Amino acid sequence: MASTNAGLTVFFDERTLAHDTGTGMWEASPSDLLCEQELHPENSIRIRNMKSVLERGPVASEILWSGGRLAEVSELLAVHDADYVKAVRALCDSGGGRLTGTTVVSAKSWEPLLAAAGTSLAAADAVLEGSTRLALALVRPPGHHAQRSQADGFCVFSHAALVAQRARESGLQRVAVIDWDVHHGNGTQECFYDRSDVLTVSIHMAHGAWGASHPQTGSPDETGVGRGEGFNVNVELPLGAGDRAYSRALSAVVSPVLEKFQPELLVSACGQDASAFDPEGRHNVTMAGFHGIGRQFAELADRHSGGRAVLVQEGGYARSYAAYCLHATVEGLLGRAPELADPLAYVPDDPRRGEDAIRRAAVALEPAWGPLA
Ligand SMILES: [Zn+2]
Repeated sequence: MASTNAGLTVFFDERTLAHDTGTGMWEASPSDLLCEQELHPENSIRIRNMKSVLERGPVASEILWSGGRLAEVSELLAVHDADYVKAVRALCDSGGGRLTGTTVVSAKSWEPLLAAAGTSLAAADAVLEGSTRLALALVRPPGHHAQRSQADGFCVFSHAALVAQRARESGLQRVAVIDWDVHHGNGTQECFYDRSDVLTVSIHMAHGAWGASHPQTGSPDETGVGRGEGFNVNVELPLGAGDRAYSRALSAVVSPVLEKFQPELLVSACGQDASAFDPEGRHNVTMAGFHGIGRQFAELADRHSGGRAVLVQEGGYARSYAAYCLHATVEGLLGRAPELADPLAYVPDDPRRGEDAIRRAAVALEPAWGPLA
């Protein structure tokens, strides 16, 4: 079990690797025109590479590895409807298929799905019980698009939402989820949209709604409803945004909102698909940018929650570079200088890109929080 000596405890469960998403024209169904189909982008190789780089890279000595566990179905019901959970299980039991156009499960996916949710909760419990301060649940599939009764993207169960809800049930009054996956964290948003006890923040590219499973737009105007008004923060960055835009979103919007909200625990939906080389994203973040994101997140955790934070792995589909970017994120989290060189980055960062979007996000929050600057 976790030790307080480790800088970061990573929770990993081999059983998540058995979630077989198959092949096709990338995430779509197979194409007869192709002689070679692609692996579905959310495959086990990406997570195995992430584990490998964390085990072999410069941060290895500061990481303690811990096993995961299967979630109980009753634990999933903290944020999901029982009928939805039953329907997911039934599709797995009947041999698998598509929950949405892009959400695939196989006959063997049920146990991996429970392992991803349970391992996220194991990371949460370790931080909440005080056996570690900083925990990463290295899980797949990702979870932040999954809504109360709707699969979406590659996500089936909403891991960051499960972690935040677990923190509330442990007695904490205010929890903040910060999502820097390149896609809008619509599932987490949806789970807490009318609540003021869990602040949800998503920094993402401007992809808009994408069909019946993802009606949320990700725009800064989606600020919450009822008591939740002002407690959902969307920073919708333009395509091509890079290191500087993410850093500014954190410092100009997220940091001042947290100052007002005063969270007792930070949760991260930690994706690497904002990288310049990700096939699922159109942003230009480099390893230096991810190092900065990790550092800024750790500083926010230091300021608000005694350094305590739970990170849950989300996207990152460049099967090599995403692993390097996760390593850079962890270097930043641990306050280490970046030792692992970036083998690929060359796209120059435009420091002005994203400034308008960051201003729009701040203006949308003004009715609830006052001026952020
Ligand atoms: Zn994503």
